[in-house]
Amino acid sequence: MNVELIQYTPDPEKVIAAAARLCYSPDPVPELMEKLDEEKVANLVQKLRAMGHLSTFEHISFQFSIDGVSRALSHQLVRHRIASYSQRSQRYVKEEGFDFVTPPTIRRNPQTQERFENIMATLQEEYQALLAMVPAEDARYILPNACTTSLMATFNARSLLNFFEHRTCMRAQWEIRILAEKMLELVREVAPNVFGQAGPTCVTQGVCHEGAMSCGRIKALKKEAERMTLIYDR
Ligand SMILES: Cc1cc2nc3c(=O)[nH]c(=O)nc-3n(C[C@H](O)[C@H](O)[C@H](O)COP(=O)(O)OP(=O)(O)OC[C@H]3O[C@@H](n4cnc5c(N)ncnc54)[C@H](O)[C@@H]3O)c2cc1C
Repeated sequence: MNVELIQYTPDPEKVIAAAARLCYSPDPVPELMEKLDEEKVANLVQKLRAMGHLSTFEHISFQFSIDGVSRALSHQLVRHRIASYSQRSQRYVKEEGFDFVTPPTIRRNPQTQERFENIMATLQEEYQALLAMVPAEDARYILPNACTTSLMATFNARSLLNFFEHRTCMRAQWEIRILAEKMLELVREVAPNVFGQAGPTCVTQGVCHEGAMSCGRIKALKKEAERMTLIYDR
């Protein structure tokens, strides 16, 4: 999997702060931006995040190149509707000798790995044969979820926070969780006050919505919070 942050709104946190200031000021945005220094921006962004005034976060966006992920992943990714996507087409780009993602549970056992690779080899062969008989858009019906794909995805910061809540959770499927963790790492570097506390709801809200399916991390986080409270109360 290869993930790159190829572009993002310049000075993203200042843009958020200026949008928030605009609501309470007669000055236009360029003037407000001039008056904002780094400390004011950081304080304001953290305050907006804590208060949940997240419409201002919609003004900044992040564009990712995502490569070498499975179609199983991309199907889950595009369920996040508040984002824009472009994906390599299997109608126009032939998948001759396609690459595929092998899940770790299959890879760690020689027997399952061999079975998996045999199936992929058969599919590659059959796909190639079909290509000689029917259009690529029809031959692709036999391609597997494991087949790799490439996407460009553009998210605004509010949507990204929602994406991270869902997909960095231990209940998320392993491949999209790895992608989400990589994306979070990239945006944290360029907008630390927006994404510093981003993550699953056990981290962002101190709650877990997974009920009996919970990974148990919330209990460990609560214990740690209690321990810290005891230390501070001493
Ligand atoms: C662990 C896990 C398991 C999952 N299992 C399944 C499954 O078995 N089957 C399945 O179909 N999906 C499943 N999903 C996908 C999930 O239901 C969501 O479709 C996906 O996570 C996108 O989330 P979202 O709607 O919040 O994101 P976005 O589509 O980006 O939407 C962001 C937010 O905008 C608002 N919004 C967007 N569109 C609308 C709308 N039409 N009406 C009102 N508000 C809107 C909502 O507040 C939403 O949270 C799973 C997701 C996870 C993380």
